[in-house]
Amino acid sequence: MSFVESEERRALRAAVADLGAEYGASYYVGKAKAGQKTDELWTEAGRLGYLGVNVPEQYGGGGGGIGDLAAVCEELAAAGCPLLLMVVSPAICATIIARSGTDAQREHWLPRFADGSVTMAFAITEPDAGSNSHRITTTARRDGGGWLLKGQKTFISGVDEADAVLFVSRSEDQKGTLRPSLFIVPTGTPGFTHTPIDMEIVSPEKQFICHLDDVRLPYDALVGDEDGGLLQLFAGLNPERIMASAMGAGIGRLALGKAAAYARDRQVFTTPIGAHQGLAHPLAAAKIELELARLMAQKAAWLYDAGDDEGAGEAANMAKYATAEAAVHCVDQAIQTHGGNGLTTEYGVGMLAGVVRLMRIAPVSREMILNYVAQHSLGLPKSY
Ligand SMILES: Cc1cc2nc3c(=O)[nH]c(=O)nc-3n(C[C@H](O)[C@H](O)[C@H](O)COP(=O)(O)OP(=O)(O)OC[C@H]3O[C@@H](n4cnc5c(N)ncnc54)[C@H](O)[C@@H]3O)c2cc1C
Repeated sequence: MSFVESEERRALRAAVADLGAEYGASYYVGKAKAGQKTDELWTEAGRLGYLGVNVPEQYGGGGGGIGDLAAVCEELAAAGCPLLLMVVSPAICATIIARSGTDAQREHWLPRFADGSVTMAFAITEPDAGSNSHRITTTARRDGGGWLLKGQKTFISGVDEADAVLFVSRSEDQKGTLRPSLFIVPTGTPGFTHTPIDMEIVSPEKQFICHLDDVRLPYDALVGDEDGGLLQLFAGLNPERIMASAMGAGIGRLALGKAAAYARDRQVFTTPIGAHQGLAHPLAAAKIELELARLMAQKAAWLYDAGDDEGAGEAANMAKYATAEAAVHCVDQAIQTHGGNGLTTEYGVGMLAGVVRLMRIAPVSREMILNYVAQHSLGLPKSY
């Protein structure tokens, strides 16, 4: 076991950090406030192979693992560009298609994920089901040689910039525990519409309600098996949690870096404010929490890439919880350290509050992770 990342991984981090620095937070926030997308950054990251580091080499990707993709996501977030669609498109969708897709689906989609030329949104959340995915009612009905898909999803990120959406549904006659069927639906398909949700997060990536009104799909829109079971879905959800952890870690690093720089420099009494333990200790504690959380995220990625899906599931949940908590503390203390400047646009700390707060809610909430750990790791009875 080594706690030092490989030379290759460190080189990847350094290269991505350089790219991130060329764009930075002012680019990201500028795009968000102008209602525009981060297309330039996405395209360049794709061209350089960073968005496809985890796609198998035979499809034009880097042949690496989720640990590599998480490193890319973390470095971009640490540079001020937390790209939500990285968590969805190359992590969840590409992984599920690589693992469960047909040869034709792999040949069509994976080279495009590898160079970032397509994005695919991912839709599981429904208004009435929320955290309880077993209650989803989006239904796939066999119709002739294909399918009719009906239902509604909410909070789906990036539908306006996606080429397609991977929908999680259940089959017509399925009741009770979810055995998900996954469908790729191109965004222009008749019957599929989306409406934006007004959000209080500074992000170029928007959230949408998706309406599926008897959307007619060919048979081969199905990914994996009909009623395929949770395993094929979790092939994508563990990477999602690892990526969310990486994004949280990056945001935490960004906030702490800004806070430490400010605290070294700003002087209002006889010493820089960073000399006061009232500021230094909470920053130090946040740093410790963040590094511990990063370790768990790296363990989760390592287990996942080693093929231990069960071990990765527990570690990914723990990492997601720990990085979200650590990142929230980092951002909150960074705002406090900056005093009034913590809430100005110029210092770029206050705008992190919304996105970092999201980390406690999505893709899986803090409470649902605690439920999971209580039940699966501690053997406690289920309360719900
Ligand atoms: C910005 C953003 C982007 C998103 N992007 C996507 C996306 O791309 N695709 C997608 O499918 N979804 C997406 N989501 C949805 C996200 O995954 C859900 O918001 C999240 O899973 C929580 O579901 P909910 O909002 O319905 O909350 P609810 O399930 O209604 O929960 C509300 C509160 O109750 C708590 N709670 C619920 N049940 C229990 C319980 N048994 N024990 C203890 N506490 C409980 C929750 O933890 C939470 O605090 C996104 C959400 C946001 C905000």
